[in-house]
Amino acid sequence: MKYYSLNHNAKDVGFLEAVQKGLAPDRGLYFPKEIPTLNADFIENINQYSDHEIAYRVIQPFVGNDIPKEQLKKIVKDTLSFDFPIVQITENIATLELFQGPTLAFKDVGARLMARCLAHANQLDKKKKITVLVATSGDTGGAVADGFYKVKGIEVVILYPKGKVSEIQERQLTTLGKNITALEVEGTFDDCQDMVKSAFIDPELIQNVNLTSANSINIARWLAQMFYYFIAYKNRPNPEKKLIVSVPSGNFGNLCAGLIAQQMGLPISHFIASTNVNNTVPEYLESGEYTPKKSIQTISNAMDVGAPSNFIRIQKIFNNDFFKLKKILSGFSYTDKETEKAIKEIYEQEGYVADPHGAVGFLGLKAYIESQKEPSSYQGLFLETAHPIKFADAVEKILKTQIQIPERLKGVLQKEKFCFPIGDYQELKYFLLSR
Ligand SMILES: *Cc1c(COP(=O)(O)O)cnc(C)c1O
Repeated sequence: MKYYSLNHNAKDVGFLEAVQKGLAPDRGLYFPKEIPTLNADFIENINQYSDHEIAYRVIQPFVGNDIPKEQLKKIVKDTLSFDFPIVQITENIATLELFQGPTLAFKDVGARLMARCLAHANQLDKKKKITVLVATSGDTGGAVADGFYKVKGIEVVILYPKGKVSEIQERQLTTLGKNITALEVEGTFDDCQDMVKSAFIDPELIQNVNLTSANSINIARWLAQMFYYFIAYKNRPNPEKKLIVSVPSGNFGNLCAGLIAQQMGLPISHFIASTNVNNTVPEYLESGEYTPKKSIQTISNAMDVGAPSNFIRIQKIFNNDFFKLKKILSGFSYTDKETEKAIKEIYEQEGYVADPHGAVGFLGLKAYIESQKEPSSYQGLFLETAHPIKFADAVEKILKTQIQIPERLKGVLQKEKFCFPIGDYQELKYFLLSR
């Protein structure tokens, strides 16, 4: 498979080169030259396949000959080392729990696949060590740190805004050590992101350090997210009903992966883009006008994105045809107040603790199903993108109850924090050059 830049000003590359580069040299996002379709037989008989076999078949056409069969199978197996349970909440709404990975975030899946693909590329090409540079507002950093921990030939440098990530998130970034370095930035998430952007276009750094990014612009992180849509389809409750999936969205990488899965032949009948008040995409679906904005802070902070970076890929899937997209995707957005009310209702009426992101997904799904002529003909699925413990402050305040800390988090809370303070871009640059 070849990938081209959506800015159309860079040469086509294979899978591994696209993974290594992250962004194309013309600053465009990579996109596959074609979207492969899967054998209808395979989809029909999907429950005869293991999760690992499904994931291998889904990713293989995107990788092509870049990774030999046995190695790719191993990479997929190592990536999917946990399950994706479905919990039925109401009669026609269930949740797909994507938070069973090591850092309790759905981003674990993409980070783990990307780390293993990069490690494979590195073995072939031992020239220079690779430095993964990433800015985080919380969950990305933890998933990337864990996914790349002890991966040979790869150094990870994570920038996070001091005092603006939760304690659990900070521990996940700062306690691993080895090839993972956390830089605590005196500033906001936007400042962190600006520094990372400056680093990627700094000629002196480009000359001396082999930098790549681990955001969802990277195709390995993005495409890996298809896995759980297929696995969820296999395990879906009420298979006689039409399946609808609601995706709590920020940068829209997760939803974009779902849409690619559907293009490959997965029978999902409709998608919902559920957002908080950062509603650039729902507004676009309503008006046809795409107007990126500055982001607004909310309690579902991993979705505080005003200019979603993957939306251009979604438009490409539909050849920029607004009406084609609108047939498959609906959008809904919610305020913090509405989200809090939903968390309370889901808990009091159904006994399920949703996190703020999942709650937004629930609301969008419910609104869509209720607007349909025959609500009972649908099985809705909303993605639970993080464990509620990661947003314990907000959730515990709403529910007036304490959330149990999962076993696998306890270790991280006892370890010592280690990070370097960074004041400005020059300090970051000096840090990267001096290693
Ligand atoms: C990253 C994240 C999202 C948003 O995912 P996108 O792919 O950027 O749309 C939603 N929920 C949580 C908890 C996240 O960490």
